[in-house]
This record gives sequence, C-alpha cells and structure tokens, in this order.
Amino acid sequence: MKDDISSILKGWGEPAYRIKQVEDARRTGIRSWEDVTTLPKDLREKLSEVVPLWTVTPDAVAESTDGTLKWRLRTHDGLAIESVLIKHARGRRTLCVSSQAGCALGCKFCATGTMGPGRDLTSREISDQAYLANDAAREADARVSNVVFMGMGEPLQNTAAVFDAVREIHSPEGLGISARQIAISTAGWVPGIDEMMDFEVPVRLALSLHAADDATRSQLMPVNNRWPIANVLSACRRYGDRTGRRVFIEYLLLEEINDSVADAKRLAELLRDGRFHVNLIEYNATGGPYRGSPQERRRRFAEELERAGLYPSMRRSRGADIAAACGQLANSPA
Ligand code: SAH
Ligand code: SF4
Repeated sequence: MKDDISSILKGWGEPAYRIKQVEDARRTGIRSWEDVTTLPKDLREKLSEVVPLWTVTPDAVAESTDGTLKWRLRTHDGLAIESVLIKHARGRRTLCVSSQAGCALGCKFCATGTMGPGRDLTSREISDQAYLANDAAREADARVSNVVFMGMGEPLQNTAAVFDAVREIHSPEGLGISARQIAISTAGWVPGIDEMMDFEVPVRLALSLHAADDATRSQLMPVNNRWPIANVLSACRRYGDRTGRRVFIEYLLLEEINDSVADAKRLAELLRDGRFHVNLIEYNATGGPYRGSPQERRRRFAEELERAGLYPSMRRSRGADIAAACGQLANSPA
C-alpha cells in the first residue's frame, strides 16, 4: 500500500507496524476506520479526518447468470465508476478496472463514450478497485488472477496513475499479480503508447483497432482523426521493437461495418509482419445503431485471417445480462 495512508502515518512518526495493521485491515475487507480496532481509538479518529480508508465505496452490485459480478463504486466526489469481475475455472478471476470516470474519446459503439469526459482516477482509486474485488473473490475461495484496463476510460490518457496502480497490484506486498496477467487497452492514444515503452513492469498492451481502413475507423472512433491507423500501428511497432513483446489487436465485429472478407484481408495486410495477436470481440449492444456480426460472418472473417497466417482468438461476451460486458459501463443503475 504505497500511498498516502502510509506516508501520513510515517509523517506522524507512527511505527511501521501501524502501517501493517492498516494493510491487514484492508485485506480483511474492513470498510471504515472505525472498525480498524487494531489501532488505538484516537489514531483511528485522527486518520478518519484526513484520509479515507478506501477511496472508492461500493454502491451497488449485480451478479450475472454466468457468475460475473459488477460493482458500481462511488468516488469521494460522488462520481460513479464500475469494476467487473469475470469468473473462470479453478478460482481464477479477471478484473476489469476503470481508469477514468467517463471518457473523452467518444467511440460510437461504447456506452462509456456517450458519457463524455469525466476525470482521471487516482492510482489509489484504481488499486482500491482491485483490493475490493479481491476481497469479494476470496469469499468464494477465488482470487483476482488477471487485471485488464478495459473498464471506463482511456488508461493511456492517465498513465501516471495507471502505472502506479499497476506497480501496486503487481508488487508482492500488493496483490502479487504477474505482469503478463495485466493488460492495458488503448483506443490508440499514441503518446501513451510511447510512454509504455519505458514502463518497467512488462504488462501486455492491447490496441482497440476495430477497423482496417481510416474512413471506417474514424467514423467509429474519432481518435483516429488525430492518430490514423498507420500512425498508431507504427507506435505499436516501436513498442514491439523496444520491448520484444507482441501487441494484442482488439477487433470488434460489427455487422456490415467492418466484418466483410475484404475487411479481413485488409486487416491481415496491415498486420502481415506477424508481430500482433488478434482478438476478435463480440459486440455488446449499447443502444446505438450497430449490430453484432452474426456467427457465420464472424467465422468467415476469422478464416480469412487464418489463411493469412494470423490465428485470432474470439472473446466471448460475459455478463451481458447485467450490462457488465465491455462497452456497457455507463452509469446505469446496477
Ligand atoms: N479506452 C480503452 C479501454 C477501455 S474500453 C480502449 O478503448 O481500448 C475496453 C474495450 O472494450 C475496448 O477494446 C473497446 O473497444 C471495447 N468495447 C467498447 N464498447 C464495446 C461494445 N459495445 N461491445 C464490445 N466491446 C466494446
Ligand atoms: Fe473511451 Fe475506450 Fe469507450 Fe472509446 S472504447 S469511448 S476510448 S472507453
């Protein structure tokens, strides 16, 4: 817990074991300073006046028929953000965290995009999402094994806080989640991709590409007007050269928009140097004008990529019945 609580305690000259007591209290899911009874009462009171025990507070929770959990959380200034915990076999869980409250990039298929810009979350507001989710997972004898920055917001517009939160959840004193199980997804914020090259934790980078030509991509994702496909892919190649890691390409299949065989050919051409891994994503309805690609078209798209030597994986939609699936994280009542 490399954060303001420990620095405050240190600043007050409190011994190190006090910091440990606070960490333990947070790990056991204690929600308020009042209940941290391992600390003397006057210290609890003093702390409660200057710093929250948790920076985000669960406000509502919904559970999907597939076991996915979605929380709506409140920040101290009353903003609503969401985290989603996706259930896998053997007690593993993937947590999808928010990095901003809202998003300024306005992608047309994304529910968060319709909220407009919010504010950057602090590193603790991000890592607290992970601690709270891990507490919930532990109640089911499970643990957060993977963290993806695929909730609300564009993480690479908020790199300082995102990198700090990653350091925290990756560290053995934090949640000890391995770097390869952490993914940062970007809509193509090029300065942030460049910053990722110097980030010392070898997390995965995912680019939300979603189209293989600039006209279609600009229509879906206004950020493409600023950094068109060629620019963003060359940033990914720079990143690949520097780090030796493959970049994951996310491609959302939308019927008659980007899912034709010709689109698949164009995509294969763009990625033909083979330094990418393609993840095909099913569309989750957000009330906009789009429809997900039907299974037959998805199959043909994938086959075309395979013919070109790219072996895409298909991301199944989870938690759709509770509006927890990717792109549905608007401020709906949970
Ligand atoms: N801003 C970042 C990360 C958050 S969005 C980004 O855009 O990459 C996480 C992922 O969900 C992105 O790949 C995004 O394109 C995808 N997504 C957004 N709306 C969606 C929808 N309606 N159905 C499926 N995926 C969606
Ligand atoms: Fe923002 Fe990502 Fe949604 Fe686009 S897809 S509006 S970048 S959260």
